[in-house]
Amino acid sequence: MGSHAEGLGLNDAGLLRQHALIGGQWCDADAGGRCEVRNPANAALLGTVPEMAAAETRRAIDAAHAAFPAWAGKTADARAQVLRDLHALMLEHQEDLARLLTAEQGKPLAEARGEITYSAGYLQWFAEQARRMDGEVIQSHAADKRLLTLRQPVGVVGMITPWNFPSAMLGRKLAPALAAGCTVVCKPALQTPFSALALGELAQRAGVPPGVINIVTGHDAAAIGAEMTGNPKLRKLSFTGSTAVGKTLMAQSAPDLKRLSLELGGNAPFIVFDDADLDAAVAGVIASKFRNTGQTCVCANRIFVQASVYAAFAEKLVAAVRQLRVGDGLQGETEQGPLIDAKALAKVEAHVADALANGARLAIGGQRHALGGTFYTPTVLLDADARMQLAQEETFGPVAPLFCFTTEADVIAQANATPFGLAGYFYTRDLARSWRVSEALQCGIVGINTGLISTEVAPFGGIKHSGFGREGGKDGLHDYTELKYVCVGGL
Ligand code: ADP
Repeated sequence: MGSHAEGLGLNDAGLLRQHALIGGQWCDADAGGRCEVRNPANAALLGTVPEMAAAETRRAIDAAHAAFPAWAGKTADARAQVLRDLHALMLEHQEDLARLLTAEQGKPLAEARGEITYSAGYLQWFAEQARRMDGEVIQSHAADKRLLTLRQPVGVVGMITPWNFPSAMLGRKLAPALAAGCTVVCKPALQTPFSALALGELAQRAGVPPGVINIVTGHDAAAIGAEMTGNPKLRKLSFTGSTAVGKTLMAQSAPDLKRLSLELGGNAPFIVFDDADLDAAVAGVIASKFRNTGQTCVCANRIFVQASVYAAFAEKLVAAVRQLRVGDGLQGETEQGPLIDAKALAKVEAHVADALANGARLAIGGQRHALGGTFYTPTVLLDADARMQLAQEETFGPVAPLFCFTTEADVIAQANATPFGLAGYFYTRDLARSWRVSEALQCGIVGINTGLISTEVAPFGGIKHSGFGREGGKDGLHDYTELKYVCVGGL
């Protein structure tokens, strides 16, 4: 197995954990198998993790179940203190965590540092919210009764996370769950397990008791997922990933009526009205479309530009895209890393080929990058339309297709013509239009004159086929609680 920490230049080699965490113990798979984890920028082997499946997942759920009463029984402030300590440790080790994240995921180091701050931000926010998990006293309907509500933790929670934000997607599930008093079993994406395991290591150092956080790894996501959905000791599943897998997990969860939070795919519209500040809108597209090399669920997927400013906007966007520096994320100058794997590259190539075959024009990019591997050149396509694959589904890559529209009603109809509903963006300086369009867009998150919308203090989540449940904000805590009503009679 060996340690590869030297190659990564970590200050604290103990953060590269190559074992799973069950009941406070770092363990191997029962059958001893291991899975390799490689750097998407150069295919170098970073390390290995245990090849676990149903039996180990069941043990992790048992450990979380056993740890639940004591963790839920602590005062909110005692739990909050552990979260505050974990927040502090994440910031103290930010550079190591960012290097680990870039090495396994590929994103530029500056973005990885930002992700660690963002992920840690959830621990701080929910440490604060833990102390506000209040019920209420309700005005009674009867003179001899008093009515009140309690908020209680839902119990053991399963968490399945994707590879695009390996630290943040776990941080924003873990923080509210632990704050509420839940115990958890996490399964990180196999491409990127080390960020999650490093959080497990720091959680141990922060004094999270054994069994409160368990982390299982393995290729067989279906077996791990089936154990989670089938095990009655697990009361809630929080999943971030594709809509197809989300639907499978929901169906599997039906027999046991588990609580669910599903944060699924998007197909975000990004609308540029003719009264917009075009330079600001270009900066918004760069932030929203090209962040993480186009691999976020809130990435602008369809960029609608009003006819009268279409040519001017396209010219400015192409000039900005030409400046994007592509390379290995660990090199300081890089703004666009590799795609996560060959499958992701094939999807981007297929979307571009399909668009060009259906009448789109290439303004820049449109091919693999000279660096080889899974690097793709940042791309702008003109004359996109609704028949193209890139209008129907997320491209999840650095491809900006420009659609043309004429009226507000026309663009709202086009923007909403998708089963998905996660994020939507638009640029305008008209106040009345800002209200109308925010209300009309069918999505859970709206950005007006900004391409960056995500923060721990606001609720993040979708509608329609983008799922349900909210992460962050005060609603984020409620998703991990049950609301109990108590009626006191005989006064
Ligand atoms: P992506 O296309 O982004 O990889 P997925 O939905 O396939 O999206 O993956 C998101 C997470 O869901 C990953 O951790 C993956 O291992 C896991 N996953 C994939 N298939 C299943 C499944 N059938 N049951 C449970 N988890 C799954």
